[in-house]
Amino acid sequence: MTNIKLYPDSVNKIHHGHRLIQDHDLIFPHQIDEIAEGEIVHFRDEANHFVAKGIVVKQNKGFAWIFSLDMDDFLDQHFLESTIQMAIQQRRELFSNEATNSFRLFNGEGDGLGGFTIDWYAGYLQINWYSKALFNERDTIIPILQSNLSGLKGIYETKRYEVSEDEWTIQHTFGEQAPNPLIISENNINYAVYLGTDWMTGIFLDQRHVRQFIQTQSESLTVLNLFSYTGAFSVAAATGGAAHTVSVDVANRSLDWTKENFALNGLSTDIADHEIRVMDVFDYIAYVKRHQKQFDMVVCDPPSFARTKKYQFSVEKDYLSLAVDLFKMTKAGGMTIISTNHSGLDRDLFRENLMKASKQVSDSIYLIQQFELPEEDFPTTNDKESQYLKVFVFYRET
Ligand code: SAH
Repeated sequence: MTNIKLYPDSVNKIHHGHRLIQDHDLIFPHQIDEIAEGEIVHFRDEANHFVAKGIVVKQNKGFAWIFSLDMDDFLDQHFLESTIQMAIQQRRELFSNEATNSFRLFNGEGDGLGGFTIDWYAGYLQINWYSKALFNERDTIIPILQSNLSGLKGIYETKRYEVSEDEWTIQHTFGEQAPNPLIISENNINYAVYLGTDWMTGIFLDQRHVRQFIQTQSESLTVLNLFSYTGAFSVAAATGGAAHTVSVDVANRSLDWTKENFALNGLSTDIADHEIRVMDVFDYIAYVKRHQKQFDMVVCDPPSFARTKKYQFSVEKDYLSLAVDLFKMTKAGGMTIISTNHSGLDRDLFRENLMKASKQVSDSIYLIQQFELPEEDFPTTNDKESQYLKVFVFYRET
């Protein structure tokens, strides 16, 4: 058992609900190279008192995930079983919710053990392994899932850590194969999900509350959805009665997939009703500016970093200037919805900076709503890496 001493501030953070240990928390950083991924370590304070137990996950968001503050806990069958059973218990309401059959079943550290997540898609699981250390526990974890989930049809797994050339990164591993597409429902809206081809399945389950908000606010509105992927926000708006939506994404796959999602909900993708544009968002914005177009609702959810043929975008460097354009494209009386899943942005600072950016466009743009991860199925620790989702809704008065 390796003992690792942490700085007083880091110990303090653990007492305040942090569970991720970073390299800079260690008093003796040379230990980082000496300890192998997957090792169970004891964290101690400067006076050598036991603080917590963790598993080293070098390839994940930091150095180690703490899994217990009790020296007598071990990462064994019993611990994994009670941790997973607890997570399942906490989703009881979601399991019995007839309008929604897909959600996160196990959210890593937020459910007590970082390094992997599990999503439930209408009876099929997708397990995402973010660390080899946790992947090595799969022979214990998978039987626990099989014996605790009635209605489980099949399991897919993805490896989200660096793998060697001959290793698989995504695979169907147990039970039935899901139909492709698998039609899932969320708040009675259908979405086409494809399991087994890419870790991105077609829907980001963590945006459920935002989709619901958009659905309830869209009656007869014109809606612009930037970085639209499979058009989920647009479909939510359209089912909520939006008069016209425009979905913009540069990826070719987004066209058919978005059409499919609209069709699954009996909605037309006739260009006059719901438009899908496969093009660069920044070219589309230039076009909107040239034609001085505005929308009642502008939704923007970019990746943290993206490079296309012509443009490079980074949430950290470029989101504020993009936000100015988003506010400009929003009609008076309309809403701007600004989303990011980048954990590197400080929530409060980003919110303040967005408010400042709004002042460049109008004095009467107000923050009216914000979203974080849905706590029913995306519980978090106090680490900022865990609470990554930030969504701000602004209302433009004039
Ligand atoms: N908002 C989506 C998820 C977006 S994922 C949802 O809720 O489901 C990010 C998307 O941005 C990807 O589909 C990617 O193809 C697209 N993208 C990245 N850079 C882009 C750019 N410059 N212009 C248009 N789309 C871009």
